[in-house]
Amino acid sequence: MTTALLPTATAGSLPKPSWLAEPETLWSPWKLHGQELIEGKQDALRLTLDDQNRAGIDIVSDGEQTRQHFVTTFIEHLSGVDFKNRQTVKIRNRYDASVPSVVSTVSREKPIFVDDARFLRTLTQKPIKWALPGPMTMVDTLYDGHYKSREKLAWEFAKILNQEARELEAAGVDIIQFDEPAFNVFFDEVNDWGIAALERAIEGLKCETAVHICYGYGIKANIDWKNTLGTQWRQYEEIFPNLQKSNISMVSLECQNSRVPMNLIELLRGKKVMVGAIDVATHAIETPDDVANTLRKALKFVDADKLYPCTNCGMAPLPRHVATAKLHALGAGAKIVRHELSA
Ligand SMILES: [Zn+2]
Repeated sequence: MTTALLPTATAGSLPKPSWLAEPETLWSPWKLHGQELIEGKQDALRLTLDDQNRAGIDIVSDGEQTRQHFVTTFIEHLSGVDFKNRQTVKIRNRYDASVPSVVSTVSREKPIFVDDARFLRTLTQKPIKWALPGPMTMVDTLYDGHYKSREKLAWEFAKILNQEARELEAAGVDIIQFDEPAFNVFFDEVNDWGIAALERAIEGLKCETAVHICYGYGIKANIDWKNTLGTQWRQYEEIFPNLQKSNISMVSLECQNSRVPMNLIELLRGKKVMVGAIDVATHAIETPDDVANTLRKALKFVDADKLYPCTNCGMAPLPRHVATAKLHALGAGAKIVRHELSA
């Protein structure tokens, strides 16, 4: 895919231009409509690609410019889910949210992001990573009044995700990533059926596959939750052994400013690891040396040819200039360590 050492990437979302959607807001409504919205989204894709190129990001993404939210936008396109019939549920065991209801058999009527991926492919020769929500995180963001089983519903979502993933691969996507923040919360379910559902979602794919597991966006509910987790965050320890044995080829995780003991990465030995070296929960901008320090620490536990410098999570809620500066720090920090390794 790419031969240079330490190829940089981002975990997921990037801020949208203010003419497209309200900045620093999750689920921000679109400011354009109809054909203008279609063109506006494509313009935003060009801009986010340009930002990533200028910052020295090697594996580029759509920055989720065409979606309002990393889970809900995918679910909106499925039949069997009623967005008017909302229920309040506790998401990630952490905060109440009003969510849509599963009312009948879920299915994908048509491709969801494939046109966007095809458009991005025409703009760049670089490897493209595309994020989709993971089955468990989708289940955890809905009220299920039909299957009445998180496992059964996850299995149905895995089949649907596999259809979308195969078409994204055919459109020229090089890495398909599944976002599973729920993996950091429901360990028993992850080991019982969560990883199996992911493997169902990647069935038959020839491209690289990744799972992103983080401590969430820098929103208040997540920051409050992190404050309850103590001095060492060992959640990854519960799930990495089974992920290491899975067919998923890459794992994206949170390292910068987090209390995750770095040596937990050792549990993934053999996998490619996207190491979060940018904190998305603060406006403070890392220096290239901060990034380099994190990468050097990670190199004790992951082989250099399997290390992908990355962000902790998506940056959609950040001001645009902050996110752009953080991207530049990531690119520059990776460059420092790349030089050290080749010296
Ligand atoms: Zn994340």
